[in-house]
Amino acid sequence: MTFRDLNLKKPLWNALDDLGYKTPTTIQAAGFNVMMSGKDTIGIAQTGTGKTLAYLLPCLCMWQFSKDPHPQILIVVPTRELVAQVVSEVEKLSTYMNVAVGGVYGGANMNTQASMVLQGLDILVGTPGRIRDLAVSGSLQLKHVKKVVIDEVDETLSLGFRPQLLQIFEFLPAKKQYMVFSATLSEEVSLFLDDYLISPVRVEAARAGLPIDKIDQTGYRVPNFLSKVSLLRHLIQETEANSKILVFVSTRALADLLFQEIEADFTDTLGIIHSNKAQNFRFETVHNFQTGAIRVLIATDLIARGIDVTDVSHVINFDIPESPENYIHRIGRTGRADKNGIAITFVAEKDESALMAIQDFMKQKLVFTKVSEDFVFSDELLEFEKPKIVIPGKEIKLPQRENKGDSFHEKKAKNKKVNVRYDHKKAMQEKYGKPKKKRKK
Ligand code: AMP
Repeated sequence: MTFRDLNLKKPLWNALDDLGYKTPTTIQAAGFNVMMSGKDTIGIAQTGTGKTLAYLLPCLCMWQFSKDPHPQILIVVPTRELVAQVVSEVEKLSTYMNVAVGGVYGGANMNTQASMVLQGLDILVGTPGRIRDLAVSGSLQLKHVKKVVIDEVDETLSLGFRPQLLQIFEFLPAKKQYMVFSATLSEEVSLFLDDYLISPVRVEAARAGLPIDKIDQTGYRVPNFLSKVSLLRHLIQETEANSKILVFVSTRALADLLFQEIEADFTDTLGIIHSNKAQNFRFETVHNFQTGAIRVLIATDLIARGIDVTDVSHVINFDIPESPENYIHRIGRTGRADKNGIAITFVAEKDESALMAIQDFMKQKLVFTKVSEDFVFSDELLEFEKPKIVIPGKEIKLPQRENKGDSFHEKKAKNKKVNVRYDHKKAMQEKYGKPKKKRKK
């Protein structure tokens, strides 16, 4: 089957030719006629399966030129990186069409985005909070929307965007088509969709689309942080000069620490990206990784989700991912669109249960590679790795994982305040002591 077998429009065929895409992926082929029929659709597909094109092709096919400045197609995605990526895919696909597309996301100036929206758009791509804010402020009219895509709805919900989604739904007209994509159909996702979609048709990316088939997965047993650092250094030095390596670390603090440790060995070819870095820095780093200027990119989960960089040859899990779904997401960065990839996971003793969960989920055991004999592991433990002496009643703070929410900055102290009810009686008692009881006469 080729794209010519799908009932697309000529400008889309031409754009696909320019991109060099000939064969639709399973989700693209299976989903096309369903979405073209106008029915609500649920696509079960992970990143790397071609899901973005799977909804963009029918959306662009059904799009009709209109003088109306308000968007006809609304695409909601969980992260800013994904906004940029989807906008760029729309631009590439619509090279031969007269479609105006724009992206909006939090953490950037709202007035600039509002004036872009007011100038008129056919397709709007955005994160839920910012779309909601623009709709509430009146800059964005959603009553002409015909197609609503919610991409990575599982991730959107787990990032806590349910209220924003519901508020967006309030602004939508009664007649519209939903196209919702999710990596897995969890109970939470199904229940949520049940309330809004009308007799949705389910389409799935083939199991063959799962990254496991195209990815060579191995593990290394590594005891501690410093040993992981030396092994990583060694593995990077062993790979070919044109390889692109994405290194996953569980927390921002560890990502920074790792960067400092190996920066001197890979000057100018090492990058780092996490949510504490400024937006421009993030875009620039991803761009440099895409062009190959940066060969090794250290990243945390949340940020790496949206990264669509072609030709990532290696994914290295410096820390084992917290959940099997995250493992799939991470390794799915390599082996994309029919290319082969290598995924390496460092496993410490404490990671045994996470490893078991991943193996159960994948229905496959991780093959462990032994390090060469002359490689010596360090037995030095850094402060955060040392066993903690537990003092009853004292809480020990662990570094926070980054897949817990989309907040970009730490909240300011004034926003952290919790309202406490003022209790006059208690305050007076604290000031003057307990009132003396009147003696009975
Ligand atoms: P996605 O799953 O949408 O994140 O897509 C993964 C990557 O595959 C993106 O870089 C797409 O541009 C690319 N891609 C999507 N569809 C095809 C196709 N039919 N043939 C080749 N590459 C594709």
